[in-house]
Amino acid sequence: MPYEFTFDLSKFPRFFFAEITKAGYQKKVGIRLQEIIRRFRIQEATGLNLSDAVMLLQDLIDMQAENLLERKRFDKTKTRALFLPHCSRKYMDGHCKASFETSTSSFRCAHCSGDCPVGRAVALAEKKGYDVYILPGGSCITKILKAKGYEGIVGVACCDEIKTGVEILKLMGVSYQTVPLVRNGCANTSFNFETLRQTL
Ligand code: SF4
Ligand code: SF4
Repeated sequence: MPYEFTFDLSKFPRFFFAEITKAGYQKKVGIRLQEIIRRFRIQEATGLNLSDAVMLLQDLIDMQAENLLERKRFDKTKTRALFLPHCSRKYMDGHCKASFETSTSSFRCAHCSGDCPVGRAVALAEKKGYDVYILPGGSCITKILKAKGYEGIVGVACCDEIKTGVEILKLMGVSYQTVPLVRNGCANTSFNFETLRQTL
């Protein structure tokens, strides 16, 4: 279930995300969260009300903390896949030449556009030995995992989809790392490419 609000953190400095990472390590997250919201003027920059801003930052911090806890186990995995969200494609209509694979209910990128964020992510991950799937929704995760049996998954999606996906991965005993979208909205969404590169 997506958030009932949209946000765009894609223009925020790297320093902001470093602060989120730091907060993921720390125990007094409540205090840090208020401080981050004030310091980076999150409400003014995003137009979010305080409770939505708190929810968003709390989710980002929780995901960072989970990534840190899970990293050692993930590093030991031998077979890995990257799940990318279809909403970050440059085109979401017929201009996208990705083919739909019924066996996995996901798209396979045809690299039709050099500046498509998803196309760039696919190229990077494949170079690193990952299988890559562009997911139209979280419901195909179980199907892919049952068919392919990956030990580790890197998932890029909005916080809501990540939460749902992680529950499935936990149930199936699959290790994971996640990269939350920095702009949501179900079309023209955005993730941080450098964060993805480091995660892979
Ligand atoms: S590069 Fe891949 S994902 Fe992007 S628009 Fe082209 S086929 Fe679709
Ligand atoms: S923002 Fe993207 S990943 Fe999240 S629910 Fe919408 S389409 Fe799915």
